[in-house]
Amino acid sequence: MNLVHIENLTVRHGGLTALHGVNLDLRAGEIVTVVGPNGSGKSTLLKSIIGALKPTSGKVNRKPGLRIGYVPQKLHIDPTLPLTVRRFLSLPKRVSNSQAAEALEQAGAGHLDKQQMNSLSGGQFQRVLLARALLCKPELLILDEATQGLDQPGSAAFYQQIEDVRRNLGCGVLMVSHELHVVMAASDRVICMNGHICCEGEPEHVATAPEYRALFGTGTQGALALYRHEHNHSHDQGCDHDNHLRDAAAE
Ligand code: ADP
Ligand code: MG
Repeated sequence: MNLVHIENLTVRHGGLTALHGVNLDLRAGEIVTVVGPNGSGKSTLLKSIIGALKPTSGKVNRKPGLRIGYVPQKLHIDPTLPLTVRRFLSLPKRVSNSQAAEALEQAGAGHLDKQQMNSLSGGQFQRVLLARALLCKPELLILDEATQGLDQPGSAAFYQQIEDVRRNLGCGVLMVSHELHVVMAASDRVICMNGHICCEGEPEHVATAPEYRALFGTGTQGALALYRHEHNHSHDQGCDHDNHLRDAAAE
């Protein structure tokens, strides 16, 4: 069976419909990337999959006993709190030294165990979060904008690490990213969202789809088009959903 099978998922936050009519399957060992403008429901989809948000309607079916490792979009740690990486990994649940060492090694952070959390660089911090997500030996690893705030070499190195993790653990990976060029290279499948799934498929297929181009433009300018899109709705042919989001917000 697939890791996750989603049927006609709709999620509302109060009066606002964040997601509607989403159908999606996640298969073992596959790297799937979700792209879409800010507010297009990417985090809502991920939180629905881990079970942190309840569907308003529709269904999220997980393989029974599915182990999910989750790297959240934001994690604030009080910078005045003395906390080593090793202790952080034992919160909230105690793990053995060998479990901690193995997870850090898999995340490319084997040398960081004695460091203070507040002394880590952005890239090191993300690897420690990745290590924490690997403690449960996930069959599905979910990352929400894990490379936010990293420079380009830093995020390229992080994606490389994710591919290594996938190879070593054989886990499926679902991640949200804004770095379209990197995403295109690293993913088996790309899902383009704007309140619902606009288009999906192999990266080459999605990159040439009119729905994707309406959101992201073409070529390396895509990331810029992403931000323009939110202010200029004349780009929308083929993707009517931010109208949908506006309408839902106005309801
Ligand atoms: P993305 O991750 O693509 O930026 P989100 O899934 O975080 O988008 O949000 C989708 C929409 O739902 C946005 O309009 C956002 O403001 C709204 N939203 C998200 N979480 C909540 C919440 N807890 N309460 C109310 N509205 C929310
Ligand atoms: Mg988000």
